[in-house]
Amino acid sequence: MTTSVADRVFNFSPGPAVLPLPVLKKIQEEMLALPGAGASILEISHRSKAFISILDNTKAALRRLLNIPDNYDVLFLQGGARLQFSMIAMNLLRGSTVPAQYVVTGSWGKYAVEEAKKEGPIEVIWDGKKDNYNHLPTASEYSIRPDAPYVHITSNETIQGIQFQSEPNTGNVPLVCDSSSDFLYRPIPIEKYGVVYACAQKNAGPAGVTVVIIRKDLLERSQDNLPGYLNYKAHSKESSLWNTPPTFGVYVVGLVCQWLEKEIGGLAAMHALNQKKAALLYDVVDRYPDLYQGHAAKVDRSLMNVTFRLPSEEKEKAFLTGAVARKLDSLQGHRSVGGIRASIYNAMPMEGVETLANYMTEFAKS
Ligand SMILES: *Cc1c(COP(=O)(O)O)cnc(C)c1O
Repeated sequence: MTTSVADRVFNFSPGPAVLPLPVLKKIQEEMLALPGAGASILEISHRSKAFISILDNTKAALRRLLNIPDNYDVLFLQGGARLQFSMIAMNLLRGSTVPAQYVVTGSWGKYAVEEAKKEGPIEVIWDGKKDNYNHLPTASEYSIRPDAPYVHITSNETIQGIQFQSEPNTGNVPLVCDSSSDFLYRPIPIEKYGVVYACAQKNAGPAGVTVVIIRKDLLERSQDNLPGYLNYKAHSKESSLWNTPPTFGVYVVGLVCQWLEKEIGGLAAMHALNQKKAALLYDVVDRYPDLYQGHAAKVDRSLMNVTFRLPSEEKEKAFLTGAVARKLDSLQGHRSVGGIRASIYNAMPMEGVETLANYMTEFAKS
């Protein structure tokens, strides 16, 4: 049985998540044979000319989109963002007696701390737990030690739906950012970061590949006694070919970059679209505050994950049932938070958000 575009729902899944339709079509088109290669992306050597060109092109596209300076390297790794929770600490913290500092703004920040703790001293300099992670700190609420190995933040807390709209100033201390659920959602000043890492399956591609953008001087901290795979310096030295990289993932991230450049017009245009999409939903939330109780403080609202509750579980169930009937899929909130979560990543079309906003209005009126 073959399926078609008509079988697709509006997929609000938090991750793995919606991909741009032109990207899926391109994958389908090239699945039997990559142009010139005579075989599919799934079948060719990672050292073949065809794949090296895909790897180079994906890296170059990321460099263009994010304006990545020359003193940063771009790595394609496996193990997801959660392996980065460990690798960051293994590479940048091991041997230090001075703690790395963590700003914990939600579930993922908390998990990052749990892993890093196993590697070295950690200091949580802000934790939003007492307010159920519904807002971000202001700069005056935490203090950064000038000798900290790094400061870690989660730019977008996927589960709670709160997002840094700009970078906290960490002075000369490297800022390390888990950008898994908002990678490529807007232009970011890379030079303000030491490391930006993101698993691809939220906003940039399929599961299986994780992008790590790292300032090259930080590679000198990686110690030789680390297991090879866990050593950033080894991956950098071999241009992400220390071992077999996630070839299909790199290919798809490359196609997503092409889509962002050619069809969207770059990250500033993407950001404008994302602001428009999020505003459609938050406007309905604000218009019916008795029905839709937004989780995030207004100033910290995520443009990627819109989280809210309804007054009762029955109402939430009714809401979700009605949504599915309109092909609005995977809107159930995370099991730890409950309620509704609409993940509206880059690839979610405006039409999907409009359909959801209209449904929310209709549901409120009924
Ligand atoms: C999904 C997610 C992760 C975990 O990614 P894995 O690839 O499953 O390890 C980490 N951080 C954030 C912010 C996420 O959204």
